[in-house]
Amino acid sequence: MSAAVSARDPAEDLRSIAFCLERALEPSYRVRAFRNAAAAIAALTPDELRSRVTASTLTELPGVGKVTALAVEESLRGEEPVYLRRARTLGGTPVSEGAALLRAALRGDCHTHSDWSDGGSPIAEMARAARALGHEYVVLTDHSPRLRVANGLSAQRLREQLDVVARLNDELAAEAERGEAQDGPVTPFRVLTGIECDINLDGSLDQEPELLARLDLVVASVHSKLRMPADEMTARMVAAIANPATDVLGHCTGRQVVGHGRGGKGRPESEFDAEVVFAACAQFDVAVEVNSRPERLDPPKRLLRLAVEAGCRVAIDTDAHAPGQLDWQVVGCERAYLCGVEADRVVNTRGAEELLSWTGRRRAG
Ligand SMILES: [Zn+2]
Ligand SMILES: [Zn+2]
Repeated sequence: MSAAVSARDPAEDLRSIAFCLERALEPSYRVRAFRNAAAAIAALTPDELRSRVTASTLTELPGVGKVTALAVEESLRGEEPVYLRRARTLGGTPVSEGAALLRAALRGDCHTHSDWSDGGSPIAEMARAARALGHEYVVLTDHSPRLRVANGLSAQRLREQLDVVARLNDELAAEAERGEAQDGPVTPFRVLTGIECDINLDGSLDQEPELLARLDLVVASVHSKLRMPADEMTARMVAAIANPATDVLGHCTGRQVVGHGRGGKGRPESEFDAEVVFAACAQFDVAVEVNSRPERLDPPKRLLRLAVEAGCRVAIDTDAHAPGQLDWQVVGCERAYLCGVEADRVVNTRGAEELLSWTGRRRAG
């Protein structure tokens, strides 16, 4: 590493392109090309990289195509790649001051997915992206067994994931100890264990109770039979909320906003007695999730206001399935701010230890 090395890091520029595309809701598989190319470039020494650029042999590397090679060349010349400049303009969200303050108060994200279920990126990439956004922790909440379309984790796979997370946390701690990682200075950061657990038709949770009790945080969500009659749906949700394992009620209406998602058709809200459900959340101290995904934006504002009036805690989460989507939190903050959510009611404005003492509230004994 000498003065001869460009001030820009080509691998970092490729990762930034991927991040911006993810934030703009581009499909994970399309973004993958940039992340794979970044990994291929990062594996080269600066000299190898330069000689490949000179000899025009970058595209011989696995995962590096014409578009990514061009971005690397621009980056090495010290220019911001044109592709990155364009990608940056996608999906940026202007926010009010109140929402920005709320976002600044967030210290983590309680609902994220990795490629262990239906996410597009490995756990370590999600973790490092969350750290780069200034978070102190991220809760990994991959899907539960019954959600087969999303490659939900069996009890066995979830146990394996717990070991993987423990090892990753050791690595992250070592990076924090050294004060730096490959991509710059770092702060202490950890991955908390968790699950997005399906709420079964009878209101029970789709994972072994003993395993749920070991996790740092449990998001419980309805993913099946979203159109059941309102009285049955209310009973189903209240049973899940009353379960001592549940910490956060995920995307409570299950709606999909028109213009996003499969075929752009949208999906109506599930019907249930919101006053009863939020009263249960308040009684059992379960946080109502503000889901920041652009195609969900769940709950709708009228229901979020109702949850605030009921005295519920709130979790402002991304439900990210790719690193760039971790930046969607600001969307949830805007909605929370508009609905009168105060920072001290938001569980992820707490540090990791404080969050864990809250999630441990009903686990003991
Ligand atoms: Zn979900
Ligand atoms: Zn999810």
